[in-house]
Amino acid sequence: MKEIRKGMLLVLSGPSGAGKGTLAGMLISHDPSFRFSVSATTRAPRPGEVQDVHYHFMDDAAFDRLVEEGAFLEYATVHGNRYGTLRSEVEQILAAGENVLLDIDVQGARQVMAGGVDVVSVFVVPPSFAELRARLEGRGTETPEAIETRLGNARAEVAEMSRYEYTLVNYAPPERSFECLRTIVEAEKMANSRCTVVLDD
Ligand code: 5GP
Repeated sequence: MKEIRKGMLLVLSGPSGAGKGTLAGMLISHDPSFRFSVSATTRAPRPGEVQDVHYHFMDDAAFDRLVEEGAFLEYATVHGNRYGTLRSEVEQILAAGENVLLDIDVQGARQVMAGGVDVVSVFVVPPSFAELRARLEGRGTETPEAIETRLGNARAEVAEMSRYEYTLVNYAPPERSFECLRTIVEAEKMANSRCTVVLDD
């Protein structure tokens, strides 16, 4: 028996603090067929973030040049900073026969979905807005103003969840929600549009 697989483009979106990053990290470390697409951003690196590992950090002029070159599969301004998915990143991963994980906001996801690309889309939500606040404050990576911006944007983002194929409630600790994500991913790998099974004689 032989399985001929096409790479999967998995889009994870959800409000900041919902835990997409944690779920994405768990998926990458548990499933070697997935690779994270490193986005470009004009946001300043947080302590511990590494250039070209977490993001391709750049200034506005460099980001503008990439926009002009048509280098982005999608791009958007999120919480006052610009973020974009590089076509080259995605193509490189798919060409290697691997699956791509995109952690992008709702505007970017809308562009990718409208582009006729075959995607699996999952929207990650916290159990409540109060829990979202607690997680953002507990993370300690944002200023109080940035936390308020992110919480303000969260309600508009949540209104977009029905555009996605799946909504995943991320409870703490995330193990059970991660198992749900694995279930979605394993089922989607078996979709006939992505996998052809050739039986031996
Ligand atoms: P953070 O600054 O916390 O790393 O990310 C803020 C938001 O930007 C998150 O919701 C994340 O999903 C989104 N984001 C990260 N990379 C991209 C990207 O390449 N494109 C878009 N549209 N959003 C992104």
